[in-house]
Amino acid sequence: MRYPDSFDVIVIGGGHAGTEACLAAARMGCRTLLLTHSIDTLGQLSCNPAIGGIGKSHLVREVDALGGAMAAATDQAGIQFRVLNARKGPAVRATRAQADRVLYRSAIRGMIQAQPGLQLFQQPVDDLLMDGDRVIGVRTAMGLDFHAPAVVLCTGTFLGGRIHIGLESSSGGRAGDSPALALARRLRELPFRVDRLKTGTPPRIDARSVDLASLEQQWGDDPRPVMSFLGNSATHPDQRCCWIAHTNARTHDLIRANLDRSPMYSGVIEGTGPRYCPSIEDKIHRFADKDAHQIFVEPEGLDTPELYPNGISTSLPFDVQLAFVRSLAGFEQAVITRPGYAIEYDFFDPRDLRPSLETRPVAGLFFAGQINGTTGYEEAAAQGLLAGINAARLVKGEAPWCPRRDEAYLGVLVDDLITLGTREPYRMFTSRAEYRLLLREDNADLRLTGIGRSLGLVDDHRWAHFESKREAIEREQQRLRTTFLHPGTPAALQLTKKLGTELKREYALADLLKRPQLDYAAIAPLAAGAVTDPQVAEQVTIQAKYAGYIERQAEDIARLARHETFALPEGLDYSAVDGLSHEVRGKLDEARPATLGQAARVPGVTPAAVSLLLVHLKKRE
Ligand code: FAD
Repeated sequence: MRYPDSFDVIVIGGGHAGTEACLAAARMGCRTLLLTHSIDTLGQLSCNPAIGGIGKSHLVREVDALGGAMAAATDQAGIQFRVLNARKGPAVRATRAQADRVLYRSAIRGMIQAQPGLQLFQQPVDDLLMDGDRVIGVRTAMGLDFHAPAVVLCTGTFLGGRIHIGLESSSGGRAGDSPALALARRLRELPFRVDRLKTGTPPRIDARSVDLASLEQQWGDDPRPVMSFLGNSATHPDQRCCWIAHTNARTHDLIRANLDRSPMYSGVIEGTGPRYCPSIEDKIHRFADKDAHQIFVEPEGLDTPELYPNGISTSLPFDVQLAFVRSLAGFEQAVITRPGYAIEYDFFDPRDLRPSLETRPVAGLFFAGQINGTTGYEEAAAQGLLAGINAARLVKGEAPWCPRRDEAYLGVLVDDLITLGTREPYRMFTSRAEYRLLLREDNADLRLTGIGRSLGLVDDHRWAHFESKREAIEREQQRLRTTFLHPGTPAALQLTKKLGTELKREYALADLLKRPQLDYAAIAPLAAGAVTDPQVAEQVTIQAKYAGYIERQAEDIARLARHETFALPEGLDYSAVDGLSHEVRGKLDEARPATLGQAARVPGVTPAAVSLLLVHLKKRE
């Protein structure tokens, strides 16, 4: 049966990619349908109940700056907030929040239900409807056809999902959820490069069975950070403590003695797992000389006694899981509420995607999230937002929006994926961004909210908030530039101790703020008019202290920009480029970069090869 209403954009999957994708498309005025297995699992945190962290919070803030949901939901659900790398430079500072799973899901569901133009339907999607090499809709398991010119696929770990506990395995999308087998089969018939990846999760433990008093406590930060630019810590739920535990020699012996019963070491699992989130058996095998590994013991929520032991993800058999958990100090009587497991699933080579996240082989079909080889809620949300934006723009006949690497981590993420591909679950890090001093989490709004407004993503409330912040920053910078401190005055003498010397001549407050010994709190109140908004004070401080470095990065970007955006024709014949080696031709043919900048980042493509390409393109012009 054909569903009577038609849609502009259909999004499949109500995880982190899917929810951002459908919200973005609907905000941009498209009639949008979200089709998902279960409305009750919208926004489900499949693994650890935490959002953010190094590199990841940068993506969350960018999604927020573009009007997305993840940061706001985190502020509604966060039960512990911390700033990581607080003592390091602003480029690598990152916010991380522990979330209550139930509150997080309900925050996301609330936003979806409140979004005009967005319809929800609960059904597995089994098939894509095609017209030649263009997608025109989807068919659900009950045979219902929905039509739309753009479809965004965000099916996470569900395609061909297989769950492993020890040497036993069964089909599943994640614990408690069915996999997407029919759709996986259908996608394998299409001309995509498909492979398998793997990820895992630890057993959950009943807090009442753990001697928490014997563990080291870890509380959130005070003052408490927020995740969203519109966040207010006064509205956060109750806050909770986390704990730190450690593995020991007995834990390691138990695991080592049972490695032959691990699906990873017995060869049952073929997919590659996340390098930066290894299972405990992986850590013990790879770092054999370490006699202890840290475990962050995190509450799963306010109204549940369940704990998430972060650091002991495992797919060992249940008897081994129970034995090694009980070998931990404080966990001697531990009761496991859910076993740990690993999951293997299909992912698609992201080199088959355009920078808009539309697939190359199938027009109108976009892929976002874990199916592109990434891991993590934040990476998924960022891709979902971008795919939703570009699906909407495709339907409206507008050119895609493809953020550059110097504009956003979102640009770095997509460029890395579509240019380099990935053989293991891709996680974002600040080290992946060459312009990380410009791409800070604190300035994501200054970088992107204006763009979001012009894309139709930013509502009046966010825009008014942003404009007033931007004006306040400019006003404060102007005040600091035009307010001078004269030597010998009481205000100047206040600084003597901090500077270790008296001021010898007059200085603008803006120049004094650049000095490493002085911060905003020391400088700003020396004359009337200091701001009280911490976001404004932070921005003024960072922009003053890092002005030199920021300018240098901006110059580098301008120098490279010409080449970066130099478009390569869609069907460029690399064999016709004089002087290119056979190897480089093969690599470029496989990667099909969209710009010269992307070509330069394909592994094995030398600067000399880039020059040859440039000469060839100039000759064609
Ligand atoms: P998901 O959040 O998986 O959402 C997919 C959605 O699509 C679901 O709502 C599903 O019901 C729906 N769906 C799927 N197929 C269909 C269909 N055919 N029809 C309709 N709806 C469909 N990340 C980390 O960063 N570190 C980790 O250690 C980690 N461990 C993990 C361990 C496990 C066991 C699992 C399952 C995930 C783990 N993750 C981890 C990954 C994290 O959960 C994902 O990165 C993130 O959820 C991906 O978001 P997504 O939107 O792409 O997919």
